[in-house]
Amino acid sequence: MRCPACSSLDDKVVDSRLADDGVAIRRRRECLECGRRFTTFERVEEVGLVVLKRSGLRQPFRREKIMAGVRAAAKNRPVGPEQVEGLAADVEEALRLEGSEVTSALVGAAVLDRLRALDEVTYVRFASVYKGFADPSDFEREIGLLTKVDRVEPGA
Ligand SMILES: [Zn+2]
Repeated sequence: MRCPACSSLDDKVVDSRLADDGVAIRRRRECLECGRRFTTFERVEEVGLVVLKRSGLRQPFRREKIMAGVRAAAKNRPVGPEQVEGLAADVEEALRLEGSEVTSALVGAAVLDRLRALDEVTYVRFASVYKGFADPSDFEREIGLLTKVDRVEPGA
């Protein structure tokens, strides 16, 4: 951890305890460079939601992947960062209600459901990519390609 006083990366942990009902660990650290003491919180990433890909592989669900995909599809569209965040949070919440394991197809469908209401162009872009996507990491890559094709260079 970077010391807030001198930016040194060398520290030692002088105390660790559970916080937030056990979901976080609070650590008291001491900078080995300047002796400053500071506190860090470590959180376990929310566990339990797994995405089953068409290939049969399982991956932990990552909200950030949804956001990256939607953000790419929403390029140059009136879709704000809060809307993308809200959508991803909604999707995650809906998926968690389905159980601890969901298929990648269900993830895509849940995103599309909400995109339709948000912005038609973004929806269509996402859908065209989604049709061919086999797993969540694929759709990031494919949307990247799609937006490259779509991009209109200034002055072109
Ligand atoms: Zn320091």
